[in-house]
Amino acid sequence: MPYLGRRFAAVTAALAMSVTTGALSSPASADSGQDGETKKTPVAKGYGGAVSTVDLDASAAAIEVLRKGGNAVDAAVAAAATLGVTEPYSAGIGGGGYFVYYDAKKEKVSTIDGRETAPAAMPTDAFIDPATKEPYPFRKQATSGISVGVPGTPATWERALERWGSMSLAETLEPAIDVAERGFVVDGTFRQQTLENKDRFLPFEATRKLFLPGPDNDAPAVGSVFTNEDIADTYEHLGKHGMDAFYEGKLAEEIVATVRNAPSSTDPTTLPGPAGVMTAEDLDDYKALDQKPTHVNYRGFDVYGMAPSSSGGTTVGEALNILEVFDLPDVKEDRPAVLHHYLEATALAFADRGKYVGDPAFVKVPTRKLLDPVFGKERACEIDPLTAAKKPVAAGDAGDYDGTCDREPAALADEKDTENINTTNLTVSDKWGNVVEYTLTIEQTGGSGIVVPGRGFILNNELTDFSPVYSEEDPNRIQPGKRPRSSMSPTIVLKDDEPFLALGSPGGSTIITTVLQTLINRIDLGMTIEEALAAPRASQRNTANVTAEQAFIDAPYGKDLATRYGHNFTPAGTPGTSAAEIGAATAIEFSEDGKKATAVAEPTRRGGGSALVVEPSRK
Ligand code: GLU
Repeated sequence: MPYLGRRFAAVTAALAMSVTTGALSSPASADSGQDGETKKTPVAKGYGGAVSTVDLDASAAAIEVLRKGGNAVDAAVAAAATLGVTEPYSAGIGGGGYFVYYDAKKEKVSTIDGRETAPAAMPTDAFIDPATKEPYPFRKQATSGISVGVPGTPATWERALERWGSMSLAETLEPAIDVAERGFVVDGTFRQQTLENKDRFLPFEATRKLFLPGPDNDAPAVGSVFTNEDIADTYEHLGKHGMDAFYEGKLAEEIVATVRNAPSSTDPTTLPGPAGVMTAEDLDDYKALDQKPTHVNYRGFDVYGMAPSSSGGTTVGEALNILEVFDLPDVKEDRPAVLHHYLEATALAFADRGKYVGDPAFVKVPTRKLLDPVFGKERACEIDPLTAAKKPVAAGDAGDYDGTCDREPAALADEKDTENINTTNLTVSDKWGNVVEYTLTIEQTGGSGIVVPGRGFILNNELTDFSPVYSEEDPNRIQPGKRPRSSMSPTIVLKDDEPFLALGSPGGSTIITTVLQTLINRIDLGMTIEEALAAPRASQRNTANVTAEQAFIDAPYGKDLATRYGHNFTPAGTPGTSAAEIGAATAIEFSEDGKKATAVAEPTRRGGGSALVVEPSRK
């Protein structure tokens, strides 16, 4: 259904702002249709800084900060904090994420790993029902104190501002506080997401009070104004005292009490699942980590991503190394051929992800080898250019490879997907040429369902990203103090040492394929960035069937992939629901001289995003 309500109000607010300041671009639209589609992609071209997010309030917050003289990092924190207000079921200070930054002065990409962490007392059988010895149903795992990881988002903002920011935390939180106090108009999606979570929210009093305030605990009505004084106060408090006030002291104690005393049901199918074991020490010990980015060169483009604990950088990078072997741009008129290779490459890379990738502080991850072009070349041997391989395909041997095609396949990998499909992503650039790509999440829509009383934010359920069943061979097994493997793939691409493109997406493990497919669309199929982002998506994560949007399955190339190559497709979800969509990406592409930015957001997925620039034309 079309987004009116909340987004409509936000559009009005931002346009009013553009009129009074004359500095914002109106969100222009471009017809970016592929194969006769007529989707309108929000696109803004211009100078002085740009932003793309899923939400106009968040994009407007970033523009406000850029206009005040802030840089891309300040603006990214402002946008992320605003998303914590307007998209509280996807992101906020109760969660974690990965921050990738291109520093124009140093001409260098750096990253921060702000992933949630398992408490020191995390049991390895946390998600196993003692009565049946089987994992709890996923909804019960996800709605529980035990699923809450120590949040990493507050530490990420603090670290990013400390390393690269120019404004204080308090200044960057101002726009979000304004939105929380002024409120936003509830739209159909917010109401729908609330209702979909009703059974998960009801057991928690503070969540009920905040998100189900109506008579009979109804969700906020479409058209009503939703304010969140509690999150405004929490942001004020953190702005004044710094993020230590999150990880120590009264707020930390409240988080611990909320997690440990969370209601739970011993009935195997009744919500919620077990209470948590987090302590004040776990919070006090948390650190956002400075990380070296992953890097591969793909057809002359330098692609930088997130190293483990996310599997994003290694999996996107390995798939690109595999694809580099084939001269895809040469056959771009044969779109099915290009897409066949894309689907086969991701299956192979996902097999290796399953075998090798976990938190490198706990398991040995062969990151360098997974990203070695020689390994990619050897893995490319597994692709039959004419026929889809039977899935799951086997993992490779990152300990023994030479780039030749004579290896016997190893044992079949059985990839288990433990991730959910909700998160958010934002892309920001500034007038100095700095770029931020930031993906943040509280895991699934509505996180754990647990609001910290009086604080206005939901705690994550990120620990469900661990494999629920413990196995010594599994790099993503539960271990105390460990970060669950993520798929988040914030990516910055340089060409001749200058930013060319920054992009990322939500979508659980489909994040990896969304980022990859958008790159292939842009680089190999020669689409514009608007077209590349809007094009129908398909995701092959080493499973028997390819998950695809209906428009992909119905397109001539989709039919060709099925009939000519033997790919089997499963629709991504029931038509008309958000599950039918894969990802909700944001991107900014830069002109060759680096001066002009093209910010692009989703035309329809998640109701469409918002792309803005500071100066639509050069003064
Ligand atoms: N928890 C997932 C991850 O870290 C993200 C969830 C999503 O994008 O929907 O990869």
